[in-house]
Amino acid sequence: MSTKRFILPESEIPTQWYNIVAEMPNKPLPPINPATKEPLKAEDLYPVFCEECARQELNTKDAFIDIPEPVLEQYKNYRATPLVRAYGLEKALDTPAHIYFKNESVNPLGSHKLNSALAQAYYAKMEGTTNITTETGAGQWGAALSYAAKAFGLEAAVYMVKISFEQKPYRRSIMQTFGAQVTASPSMSTKAGRKILTENPTHQGSLGTAISEAVELALNTPHCKYVLGSVLNHVCLHQTVIGQEAEKQMAMAGEYPDTVIACFGGGSNFCGLALPFMRHKILEGRNTRFIAGEPASCPKLTKGKFAYDFGDEAGYTPLLPMFTLGHNFKPANIHAGGLRYHGSGAIVAQLLKDGYMEAVDVEQLDSFKAGVLFARSEGIIPAPESCHAIAATVAEALKAKEAGESKVILFNLSGHGLVDMAAYDQYFAGDLVNHDVTADDIAATLRDSGIA
Ligand SMILES: *Cc1c(COP(=O)(O)O)cnc(C)c1O
Repeated sequence: MSTKRFILPESEIPTQWYNIVAEMPNKPLPPINPATKEPLKAEDLYPVFCEECARQELNTKDAFIDIPEPVLEQYKNYRATPLVRAYGLEKALDTPAHIYFKNESVNPLGSHKLNSALAQAYYAKMEGTTNITTETGAGQWGAALSYAAKAFGLEAAVYMVKISFEQKPYRRSIMQTFGAQVTASPSMSTKAGRKILTENPTHQGSLGTAISEAVELALNTPHCKYVLGSVLNHVCLHQTVIGQEAEKQMAMAGEYPDTVIACFGGGSNFCGLALPFMRHKILEGRNTRFIAGEPASCPKLTKGKFAYDFGDEAGYTPLLPMFTLGHNFKPANIHAGGLRYHGSGAIVAQLLKDGYMEAVDVEQLDSFKAGVLFARSEGIIPAPESCHAIAATVAEALKAKEAGESKVILFNLSGHGLVDMAAYDQYFAGDLVNHDVTADDIAATLRDSGIA
């Protein structure tokens, strides 16, 4: 029997993060101040963000950035994560493709989010912060952050998207177990939340509303910083431990991926896996394909517009260059809560615009169908978000079969779905539907969000 799991020793955990911005032919556009329209400097971000994260956000020079020793110590609790050859899935699909997945679900919090949560909590602590606040969609980021806050001795306040607060009560319990305070967003506890609820009392919440509330709390609370779980460059940076490990593990397998696939919310797990491989495409012209799988109900990469937009609903954040559906976009209540975000980060926006990567949209029912096939062939129940990567992988593996080509496909299993079983129950009961967004819907929210 050939090797199934490729395991790296602790000594092979990366000691630096990879900052692709330093090597991109066209740099991402800078964040700009909405009032002055001037590019932001790191200092402009200090009131809200940890200072080191703000500097990393705007770092266009250093291709590699050292991981602090205490963060590495925490990484050793669960890294390196396994790279697995999905023989079971290959057999189920009867495909000549070789399918590998990087298993980021195997840490106690169950998703890749911990990689950045630990880094951000560490910097907050080092800078004298006592409290951190954030948003969470399905709750994976909130769970990771709550643990990271506890690990570094900080208090955490998490605004959880209301629909997920109701759909995924156990993630709330997980956050509370680590000592975090969890509030359903929109809430009456902030000005932004009150405004949203006054205008729309049944608002189900979105990452955009939760970000507004958390940013407002950080701005109004001494020694409190805001941390974000996706989208921003420094978050993508922290996730690059995933791809750097995968490079070494693919070498152990004696293969190199033709296609690298990840699901896409704001871009952190996609960037984490893809960017270290993208480096070889940029520097050496390697012909690897990169595919981001996004939900058809929130199709910013495939149907959004490349434009400056706010990262949140209230418009508290700087203007960020994105592929966006408009910050007022209200995504349908799909179970992949982590993918319900209106925009992409700046790095991905530029890479997509420059043709270094592609995107596909996946219907909710197709995502669960692929997830169930994966579960039955590999024994791991994937997060509803990760099901989008699996669906894109299945589609590529079937294309390879049709063409009779033995492609090497690598995808990221960004998390497990053991706290999302209510979603699987609804899928099996036939209660889930697809949600499509029309070009007219998008044109309307773009207009409504002030994007021509
Ligand atoms: C948050 C999350 C995502 C989506 O966020 P990205 O920043 O795009 O990676 C995907 N999968 C899981 C399991 C998540 O928790």
